[in-house]
Amino acid sequence: MSQLTVAKFGGTSVADAEAMSRCAAILEQNPDTRLAVLSASSGVTNLLVALASGEQQPEVRATLLQQLTDIQQGILDSLDKPDMLTRHIEDILVHIKELADSAAISPTKALHDEIVAQGELMSTKLFVELLRHRGTPAVWFDVRKVMRTDDRFSRAAPDLATLRAEVEKELTPLCDNQLVVTQGFIGAAQDGRTTTLGRGGSDFSAALLAEALDAIAVQIWTDVPGIYTTDPRLVSDARAIPEISFSEASEMATFGAKVLHPATLQPAVRKQIPVFVGSSKAPEAGGTWIRNSTPSQPLFRALALRRNQVLLTLTNQSMFQVHGFLAEVFGILAKHKISVDLITTSEISVSLTLDAGAELLTEEVQAELGKHCHLKVEQGLALVALIGNRMSEVNGTGTRVFQALENVNIRMICYGASPHNLCFLVQEDSADQVIIDLHRELLPA
Ligand code: ADP
Ligand code: ASP
Ligand code: MG
Repeated sequence: MSQLTVAKFGGTSVADAEAMSRCAAILEQNPDTRLAVLSASSGVTNLLVALASGEQQPEVRATLLQQLTDIQQGILDSLDKPDMLTRHIEDILVHIKELADSAAISPTKALHDEIVAQGELMSTKLFVELLRHRGTPAVWFDVRKVMRTDDRFSRAAPDLATLRAEVEKELTPLCDNQLVVTQGFIGAAQDGRTTTLGRGGSDFSAALLAEALDAIAVQIWTDVPGIYTTDPRLVSDARAIPEISFSEASEMATFGAKVLHPATLQPAVRKQIPVFVGSSKAPEAGGTWIRNSTPSQPLFRALALRRNQVLLTLTNQSMFQVHGFLAEVFGILAKHKISVDLITTSEISVSLTLDAGAELLTEEVQAELGKHCHLKVEQGLALVALIGNRMSEVNGTGTRVFQALENVNIRMICYGASPHNLCFLVQEDSADQVIIDLHRELLPA
């Protein structure tokens, strides 16, 4: 039990029967991995989100449902269509249709999460059957029994104390001597209604469960062999980082490296559980170990990019030497559960970036803020983050960075709050080129 490892398999890793078989082989080679946490098969969550929106015409809904059915059917076919499971998946698909029809009449946040959660429920059922087919016994576990959350649908926060207590009662004994397969991303509110933890949340689920199980490691199996110096889809010269510290990897996840959900490392840091990131397509290619500290601490480690940023500038001519203005502004944002990301201030104005799109900045919020100051909302921006070590201590760091960006319009800079990051806003349409140029200058092969 003390060697227990948790493995998480993302959407592309469980996209079809072939991909699922590679995950099965990884588990079969690692008998200490007792808990497998799965995402929905690739594309499924997007289809379910569209169905849950209630915005589609009946014929579009039918097409989306057909696409969903085809993905599940492809996996069932390769398992010779086992009777019970085939019926079970068909029942789930009928249930999704009924829920989507209800959403078309009256979409609610709770209904949204109930629909979207079906992807993980199906992928885990199919995976257990695939393992059985290969002669590897595993039990299916409904994570909603233990992943208790608040009721903020679509972005629910787990209740850590209840999670731990329920895991000890329900999951630890199950994992003692067998492989357990469960869902990432989904949870349940106090009243039992299904919730979800936010897009990409399966990484977070795996880390939370590892923490509650006292696991010795978490493996995040995805479609790239590790965390790269930047998104390899953007820069072909990007390369995998063999080892990285929790601090650096947390900054990367927070600032947009999609390979890890931003909250993933919080439980790992609390319990000092090393996290491995590797490719289920090429497990032999190795990957990245994220640990408390690493022998190498380069000044520049990686670049991350977060698109779709909102910059809010609040100006108040009488703010000069007046106390309480910022408290007022933050109070309003906190009341509306809007979390502020970056902040800079000048004599009479304060600029903030918000962690979600402009949709949280409702007319009500703007009107409330507008009572205290003049508001300016800018969109179409992207946040570039340079991650490394001692960046605020080493002379000339800023010069090296901004020299590489001579012709770029930089909207806002944050430097010095953390020794591990320097970040700035640029226009969205120049962001890709900024990453390419900075990678060439600061992270050459
Ligand atoms: P999964 O479905 O397994 O959770 P994701 O699509 O969420 O996988 O995350 C993997 C993707 O993250 C990669 O395909 C890659 O394009 C992207 N990515 C962004 N930044 C990085 C980075 N620094 N290193 C590796 N991958 C990155
Ligand atoms: N299936 C969910 C999503 O696509 C969660 C995840 O993959 O981590 O966002
Ligand atoms: Mg992901």
